[in-house]
Amino acid sequence: MNDSSSHASTDKRSMAFQAAVNAPIRKIEKVKDAFGKEAPISEYFGCLTFGLGQMREKLPKDAYGNLIKTLEHGKKLPKETAEAIASSVKEWSVTKGVTHFCHWFQPMTGLTAEKHDAFISIQHANHSELRVIERFTGSQLIQGEPDASSFPSGGMRSTFEARGYTAWDPSSPLFIIEEENGKTLCIPTVFFGYHGQALDNKTPLLRSIEAISTEAVQFLKLVGDVDAKKVQTTLGAEQEYFLVDKNFAALRPDLLMTGRTLLGASSARGQQLEDHYFGSIPSRIKSFMQEAEFELYRLGIPIKTRHNEVAPSQFELAPIFEDMNIASDHNLLTMEVLKRVALKHGMVCLLHEKPFAGVNGSGKHNNWSMANDKGENLLEPGHTPHQNLRFLACLAVVLRAVYKNASAMRAAIASPGNDHRLGANEAPPAIISVFLGSLLENILNTIEAGKALKATEEQIIDLGVSQIPNISKDYTDRNRTSPFAFTGNKFEFRAVGSSQNVAVPMSFLNAAVAASFAESSEQLKDLLKKKKRDEAVMELIRLIVKETKAIRFSGNGYSDEWKAEAKKRGLPILNTTPDALEVLKDKKATQFLIDMKVLSKEEIDSRYHIAVERYVKTLDIEHTSLLELTSTYIVPALEKHMEQLGAAHESMSFAALKKSHKVRMAEFEEVFADVLARYEAFKNKVEKSRKGHDENKRMWEIMEDLQPASFKLRDAVDAAELLVADELWPLPKYREMLLAHNLA
Ligand code: ADP
Ligand code: MG
Repeated sequence: MNDSSSHASTDKRSMAFQAAVNAPIRKIEKVKDAFGKEAPISEYFGCLTFGLGQMREKLPKDAYGNLIKTLEHGKKLPKETAEAIASSVKEWSVTKGVTHFCHWFQPMTGLTAEKHDAFISIQHANHSELRVIERFTGSQLIQGEPDASSFPSGGMRSTFEARGYTAWDPSSPLFIIEEENGKTLCIPTVFFGYHGQALDNKTPLLRSIEAISTEAVQFLKLVGDVDAKKVQTTLGAEQEYFLVDKNFAALRPDLLMTGRTLLGASSARGQQLEDHYFGSIPSRIKSFMQEAEFELYRLGIPIKTRHNEVAPSQFELAPIFEDMNIASDHNLLTMEVLKRVALKHGMVCLLHEKPFAGVNGSGKHNNWSMANDKGENLLEPGHTPHQNLRFLACLAVVLRAVYKNASAMRAAIASPGNDHRLGANEAPPAIISVFLGSLLENILNTIEAGKALKATEEQIIDLGVSQIPNISKDYTDRNRTSPFAFTGNKFEFRAVGSSQNVAVPMSFLNAAVAASFAESSEQLKDLLKKKKRDEAVMELIRLIVKETKAIRFSGNGYSDEWKAEAKKRGLPILNTTPDALEVLKDKKATQFLIDMKVLSKEEIDSRYHIAVERYVKTLDIEHTSLLELTSTYIVPALEKHMEQLGAAHESMSFAALKKSHKVRMAEFEEVFADVLARYEAFKNKVEKSRKGHDENKRMWEIMEDLQPASFKLRDAVDAAELLVADELWPLPKYREMLLAHNLA
């Protein structure tokens, strides 16, 4: 055999391996203080942002006052104020070297979009002379009109009115994106159609934040917080991700096309030793993290923790929680920064929920809570009996929200990527339930037993509820298999996928909680006619605890017993995206979104259509890639291996060897035959399915028929990988992609 030509693909693979192992560590210039030492984070934190703090400093007093009125009472921003803001924004940007600005928005593709314009305009100095000057007007700040026809609207907008508008969201800071050759000012905006329909994910989030505030304030007043004015929702989104050396990614068409590996046998050493979690971080990775964090700090994103995750090459970062709207924008920015900075370090950041089969997937734990205008966390057990009663009442409201809207919450996290993750290793199951921990379980059970019926402040203490203030200190109860877990002073929605825009699940959760506050307020009003306040609140808690019992689960979410038990309890079991998306067509299940004015019927329908279309397109791309990979990478490698086996066999004369070798050949031939047969079967199914025109039908067919066939093909190829000569295998292997960092 001619070695130099036949092993071209493996040469590439071993070169990639060499490159990955010998990758240089990239150094960055940090900010220096006056003495030339590295400046502390606090000195440059947020230096690339222009938010309320900077505006208070830089704007004329009345302009700033008007802006605050707009933010707090929804008053229209006067034109002069917009001009004043635009002018100080321009001045600040230009001194930072910014040349362009863009309206940064969140179309329903789940990513962010930007349209850039230069800060220039032409001035006529005199009849013949034109001059270019830097200019940025109030209306350019406030409103934009990107060509909306290129973004999905789910049929909401016919082409003759393809207008879409972006409008500045002043509650989220403006920020500068710095790249090697230029800087751009990004203006966070909402994106909507001619009739005010939301064409993005941010608009419903803002609506849901308002809904929760309105309904919670009403409820708090009834509970005794008569001066409550506003309730803020807070979010801390933990982000998991994988890093793979760029040289490997370049040799994996599946990673490039789909963000995950469609093929690949598990390596002998995966995560079974569980030694990666919190292990020491390889220095190449650490220098990547340090640069990513440096960028994020300058963008005002308060990253607090970094660590290895359970799988090799998997990592996590978590910010300090912030106001929901800002935290949501910050998570999108974080994902962008991670991807961009990884490339600078010669790596690709994979945000997909399941880049590698057989090892952990990635999630995004959404730590969620609510605070009143005094900054008190409503889900934090307090120091006084009243605070504890309020805590229990708010907790009950959340229980009711999840109990009543579990199916919609499942729909909010549905995606082809998350389908691979939910219910797998270390990921929560697809059944939504709430984990509270044994301490709270005991308290709720006591309340349910009626012992608290005539509760006064003293009796709450009698009940052992006075223990509650200790919860956050002593709270060690954890359940990694729960999709929605109480963790001391917040809930953690753990079923959210790593690549998702959190605005979607958060707006559904907020809407559910708002609706539950509304319902609970009505119920409490009735109870208040019969009982004193604290007794009425206690009775309300008892009623809700009883009503929502089915949603509480403390056991192992992975177990088959739980599936059976959940079914008995009547909880929705929606294992796949098609199952979950059906919820969006269910009038009863989505009514809370309409009632809370978070989404209209039309907007829900459009989101359903977009999700179906995205499911079909995503899997079409995966299936095309899998067929192509098999036919142009895998089968030729198997043929070569066959040839090599045959030649070796011919050269053998010792009978015993020849006999054993025949067994080896037979084993390989069987696997090879499997690959070809499954390839044919899968290809036929794909071709037939593509003839269908009804998207909904195709979605179901893909899930029920094509997906299983694609998994069967994958299994055969993965079995072949373990037999084919290593030097003939054309794709970087799992062990290379996942473990090379350890040598770097
Ligand atoms: P844990 O170990 O329980 O996950 P951490 O304190 O590390 O707890 O918090 C995890 C995430 O939860 C962090 O992003 C943190 O900022 C966030 N978090 C803490 N308190 C709140 C809150 N009141 N609202 C929202 N997120 C919160
Ligand atoms: Mg956590």
